[in-house]
Amino acid sequence: MFESLQDGLSSAFKSLRGQGKLSESNMRDGLKLVERSLLEADVSFEVARHFMRNVTEKAIGEKVLKSLNPQQQVVGIVYEELKELMGPVDHSLHLKNKKDVTVLMMCGLQGAGKTTTCGKLGKLLKDGQRNPMLVAADLQRPAAIDQLHVLGEQLGIPVYSDRQEKDPVKVCNDAVKAAKKQGADVVILDTAGRLHIDDELMKQLERIDKQCHPEQIYLTVDAMTGQDAVNSAKAFNEALEIDGVIITKLDGDARGGAALSVKHVTGVPIKFMGTGEKLDALEQFHPERMAQRILG
Ligand code: GDP
Repeated sequence: MFESLQDGLSSAFKSLRGQGKLSESNMRDGLKLVERSLLEADVSFEVARHFMRNVTEKAIGEKVLKSLNPQQQVVGIVYEELKELMGPVDHSLHLKNKKDVTVLMMCGLQGAGKTTTCGKLGKLLKDGQRNPMLVAADLQRPAAIDQLHVLGEQLGIPVYSDRQEKDPVKVCNDAVKAAKKQGADVVILDTAGRLHIDDELMKQLERIDKQCHPEQIYLTVDAMTGQDAVNSAKAFNEALEIDGVIITKLDGDARGGAALSVKHVTGVPIKFMGTGEKLDALEQFHPERMAQRILG
């Protein structure tokens, strides 16, 4: 646990401590190492600064300075603080009674893993004895409709699409009606993504939100994109008031700092994490595990 930061701090504190007691200024030098480790883990600059202010206040206490193992105590403080800031957890999908149709709206930038995550959530729901339906509401890319159909076939989950319709709001409303008729109890709206955030995309998503009244709106962000993930989370949340974030591609070598930054700038809980391309590679988000990963 905490090996690399622990080792780094241990040798730093040894040389800083010299012969005497650890001083406040030496502690501050040690804390710079912690800050560097956070930045290397993709925590954004602003968030790392803010975070370190809290940690420094706690670490400069007499108890830590006088202790035999200040580095261990500092890592402990950082770990607790990370865990606290990335929580609390809320894994619930806020599903209505099975007699009603629950609408879950998925949004995110193109390539973040939104369509794949729709499939993963569909599988999770199906495994939990629900009757999900996937809705192809990304009308920008015809390939997106095909992709969702392929996922639906693999999972044995119905997919609603209408290749003639140009208005995604109408597609979503029709899908909810179709779900009621066919006995589906959760519809997952796979909305359009773009390479960059633009007004047109946001307006379209706002219209879907206003007219289809989703129970929950989830944003997918790609853990590998660091600061971009943070910026997109901020923009989507300002336009839509998202209810949860799903961080994808955590099976890669991303250290996971994006999770802390996204939670910090939006205040929205991180619900799940994507850990692979396969449809069962979706895990509940646990702040304590992510805190360990960020610490390295
Ligand atoms: P969308 O444009 O946001 O709908 O993104 P897609 O769902 O099409 O995903 C883009 C790419 O990321 C695809 O190649 C997916 O297989 C891949 N992908 C999605 N989620 C994950 C994940 O958690 N881990 C990995 N390694 N790849 C993922």
